[in-house]
Amino acid sequence: MDMAHNPQTIPTSEFSGRGRDGGRVERVRFGAIPGVLLTAATLLSAAPAHALPVSHGRDRVVVTYVPPSDPAHGEIYRALRRQHVLERLGAVVRLVRLPRRLTLRMKGCAGEANAWYDSDSRAVTMCYELVAGIIARAPHEPSPAGVTQEQATRGPIAQILVHETGHALFHLLRVPIFGREEDAADQLAALLLLHLAPAQARDLVGGSGYFFAMLGRQEATDTSRFADVHGLSWQRFYSLVCLAYGSDPRRYADVVAKGYLPADRATTCGDEYKQVAYAFRRLIGPHLRVRPHRGERLRRAWQAREP
Ligand SMILES: [Zn+2]
Repeated sequence: MDMAHNPQTIPTSEFSGRGRDGGRVERVRFGAIPGVLLTAATLLSAAPAHALPVSHGRDRVVVTYVPPSDPAHGEIYRALRRQHVLERLGAVVRLVRLPRRLTLRMKGCAGEANAWYDSDSRAVTMCYELVAGIIARAPHEPSPAGVTQEQATRGPIAQILVHETGHALFHLLRVPIFGREEDAADQLAALLLLHLAPAQARDLVGGSGYFFAMLGRQEATDTSRFADVHGLSWQRFYSLVCLAYGSDPRRYADVVAKGYLPADRATTCGDEYKQVAYAFRRLIGPHLRVRPHRGERLRRAWQAREP
């Protein structure tokens, strides 16, 4: 589920987290990011000066694509809107009865490749810079694990957005958490992605696994890294792959056969998946508009926004 790049060719990147404005931050620090999708067309595009809320009124989920001030992000901004990325996430979040309004937002962050949930403003934010960094690091040719450029782009964008939305759900629904919240958010993200249509789930898991592995190859393992609120990228990779395998050992048998998931870990993945699914049923389930063991509504909500 990863592995196309020669580590030497990838600029240093670091996945670390720290709080900001009471929020929780996923910071991905890339080295020099090549100009991504920077074309004459994007340079010439005149971005409107204000955010465009797509949903209104009493809706508890508001999605907003803030027009980027950096013209290099124009193409990304348009592609995200065209593909209804936030609307699709919003359609899934609307399956949950939220007590307060939640904003899902894409915006430029003055050069910072970042994503976070801010509990004061109750907003999930993903920066165009982070999307640009993901796109820049997607393989041009399918990786040895068969991850395509599109999968390596869509996977981490979806995983990061759902992970941040997980923090939002924990906060808004006052979900109690044992263990690290970052692990819980990853588990929730994996569970939701794995409830999409099987082929789509596999695409997103593969792409997200590619991203974690790419970060993992670049990650320093000095002691300060162990102090981070997040697990190491390779741990996040294996936990994701393990939950995928645990959800459907037949469909994901190849991840063990090809060595992406060690057989020792694979033996516990069924139980790990059940543990996460149980926590979801008990803690999030009572807030759902649908029965939590039925993934159909989730799939339809997501796919209704397929471009
Ligand atoms: Zn997080």
